[in-house]
Amino acid sequence: MVVVDAPKFETLHAIKHLEKLASGIGSRLAGSRGERWAAEYIERHFRSCGLETSVQEFDFVSDALRVCVGTSAFIVAFIASLFLPPVESAIALVVALIINGLASKLVPKSTSQNVIGIARCGKPKLRVIVGAHHDSAFGRKLHTFPMLALATFVGASILRLFFEPPIPWHAYWALLGVMFLPSHGWRLLIAGLKRGCPGANDNASGVAVMLELARVTARHPPPNVELCFIAFGCEEQGLVGSRAFVAGMPEPRDKVMMLNLDTIGVGELCVIEGGGTMRKCKTSARLNHMLAASCKRLKFRLGRGWTPFSFHDYHPFVRAGIPATALTAGKLGKSRFTHPISKVYGLPVSRVPRYSYAHSSGDTVDKIDPASLERTGMAVLEFIQLSAKMPKG
Ligand SMILES: [Zn+2]
Repeated sequence: MVVVDAPKFETLHAIKHLEKLASGIGSRLAGSRGERWAAEYIERHFRSCGLETSVQEFDFVSDALRVCVGTSAFIVAFIASLFLPPVESAIALVVALIINGLASKLVPKSTSQNVIGIARCGKPKLRVIVGAHHDSAFGRKLHTFPMLALATFVGASILRLFFEPPIPWHAYWALLGVMFLPSHGWRLLIAGLKRGCPGANDNASGVAVMLELARVTARHPPPNVELCFIAFGCEEQGLVGSRAFVAGMPEPRDKVMMLNLDTIGVGELCVIEGGGTMRKCKTSARLNHMLAASCKRLKFRLGRGWTPFSFHDYHPFVRAGIPATALTAGKLGKSRFTHPISKVYGLPVSRVPRYSYAHSSGDTVDKIDPASLERTGMAVLEFIQLSAKMPKG
């Protein structure tokens, strides 16, 4: 009998995928052409590996379009308020607030997609899902500055109803306009152009490793395991892809486990023990132990992190009662901002994985550390082998 060795994880292959996604395609904002090209690239790769491949399409309300409508309403209200008396100007603001609130119902829906590739061996008793989102973010600065300007605008409009300002109203509005219009105009422009971030680390890195894992395991999955690789769409706008996948998952769901890869290209490998502050969502302790055991065997350090202000694609799985967890990477440390917050909310881990270029145009391929991709790939392979040996239940 000829025994064929399973292929090895090749970091160079992962880097090739990463470059294609983050440099070749670039921005992959959900619903954009970039995101669709990325999905097509992933689909072609899954097919070329011999995986049973399918695409799940779903609708969502695009942040870019919603922001366009909301911001246009605020700009019109602002300009109108320059010419209106205080009460009418406050009414204009209220109308703009209502339009902004209803924006998600007013705009046409966009389409995104999950790409799914499956490998089986024998009669599977366990389904192991490895997921990573292929869309990139909208850009954090676009959210922060306009929100500050908007808060100033709302505050000033309320004060204007009750107090007489020390300078004439129109001069006051002109001053506010200097702060308000450039940031909102810029936001509108960017939203209109649908520009997003290159997302090399967040999350071309996770997808690149997943694509190489798919090649390595496609023809040699562990016995009695169904390996399911999923590239989720539209994660950055509310975990829409993973929610759609979980909603469409067939029963039974008790023989399923899920490992998510997100932002694994720089820094120390780190398991996410959960996220949230008041409404905490904990990842599976059993899977986290398995990841720790896998890393111990490989002699890799594995940090533990908690993300107070964000969830990843594991979240819909955990909420549906499916054991799920996530691997990320970053500089582990007490953040000046999140450490006190962790204390207030009694979070189990105050150490948070940080990546300073997250959701910015600086998240480019040159920042990625190939060693980090390799560690993740090896750790997930070990985790998959371990899951196959795991006793049932
Ligand atoms: Zn991400």
